[in-house]
Amino acid sequence: MENDEIIQQVRDTVSKICSDFPGQYWREKDREQKYPAEFVQALTDAGLLACLIPEEYGGSGLPLSVAAEIVMAIHEAGANAAACHAQMYTMGTILRHGSDEQKQQFLPAIASGDMRLQAFGVTEPTAGTDTTSISTTAVKEGDRYIINGQKVWISRAEHSDLMLLLARTTPRDQVEKRTYGLSVFIVDINEAKQNGMEIRPIRTMLNHATTEIFFDNVPVPAENRIGGEGKGFSYILSGMNAERILIASECIGDARWFIETAKNYANDRKVFGRPIGQNQGIQFPIARCYAQTQAAQLMVEKAIQLYDAGDDCGAEANMAKLLASEASWAAADMCMQSHGGFGLAEEYDIERKFRETRLYQIAPISTNLILAYLGEHVLGLPRSY
Ligand SMILES: Cc1cc2nc3c(=O)[nH]c(=O)nc-3n(C[C@H](O)[C@H](O)[C@H](O)COP(=O)(O)OP(=O)(O)OC[C@H]3O[C@@H](n4cnc5c(N)ncnc54)[C@H](O)[C@@H]3O)c2cc1C
Repeated sequence: MENDEIIQQVRDTVSKICSDFPGQYWREKDREQKYPAEFVQALTDAGLLACLIPEEYGGSGLPLSVAAEIVMAIHEAGANAAACHAQMYTMGTILRHGSDEQKQQFLPAIASGDMRLQAFGVTEPTAGTDTTSISTTAVKEGDRYIINGQKVWISRAEHSDLMLLLARTTPRDQVEKRTYGLSVFIVDINEAKQNGMEIRPIRTMLNHATTEIFFDNVPVPAENRIGGEGKGFSYILSGMNAERILIASECIGDARWFIETAKNYANDRKVFGRPIGQNQGIQFPIARCYAQTQAAQLMVEKAIQLYDAGDDCGAEANMAKLLASEASWAAADMCMQSHGGFGLAEEYDIERKFRETRLYQIAPISTNLILAYLGEHVLGLPRSY
């Protein structure tokens, strides 16, 4: 089947699933800060979350272009893929850098939905964006590593069987480069919880199932280390382009939802005896957001093309994420303004999606850090930090 046909099929499947999970469903989950388990299960049952896993491990072996359409279509339908998107890109670390045994052990179970790999443990409270300063340690003792430290903002940890964890195996002052000495582990969450790991939910302004995690002498089998000891930072980096492209696609989906919602309202709502969309003060911001979203979409497509061709797409993936997150935020603000007071009413879903899309200028990487990347690596300006 041609890629375009696959994409159409996938969009139809997503749209059918999303129609079973209307705004009411998301509003209730949001109000109670509950994980949308039923929605994630429906996506799993349809095989959508295993789209990037190769066929030999039970997935459908599709390119990133298809995964991007899946998350975009979810957001365009007013739903949210954040409850499960991490699985799509974190499994790439096992696929690219794991041993044959690890791939056989984990990938088929992830593909079938028997195991969830939704948690990605990198950020720490003191290190923040400065990942190489993390202080969670993994010390080798015989055939296991002992983990000590703390992570923050680790999303979906309560709803995942596995977590990909970044920890320091060699102290920073003993390595030649600060990016060395970090290792990646696959942590069995249920086992770890019985052996010194504690997960505490963090309530946030959006329903994101995020947590902080404490490690107190948590043993992890040495065979669960991915790739070489001390090389973990490069393994994590290698998955970041896919992550940025998928997040950018979610932002495009959000922006389209806001534009469509604003357009429909602006056509229907009559004030002073005419549709509000007849006023240029309402019409032009919608048109501007449309143009901004279309332009961001082109950058997302360019990044996807490069990624799927196996070419370097660092700059494009970063720019796609930057432009798409700004387009979705501009569209969110425009949509709320176009609705007047009703934009603030829960039942319109605008305030919920407004809160949800705001996240993407901060996580998984904040706008400033993308600008710093472009400044230094693309434009050749001095490193700013
Ligand atoms: C809801 C949510 C879910 C998340 N999920 C996960 C997850 O699953 N796994 C995970 O590992 N992490 C996760 N994160 C963490 C996320 O990746 C970080 O919040 C993000 O990378 C920003 O880091 P920080 O919060 O530590 O901000 P900081 O690093 O403290 O930065 C604060 C501000 O200062 C700016 N800043 C810092 N240094 C510079 C500089 N040198 N130049 C210019 N500006 C600078 C930043 O851009 C930012 O605006 C999540 C965060 C949130 C809020």
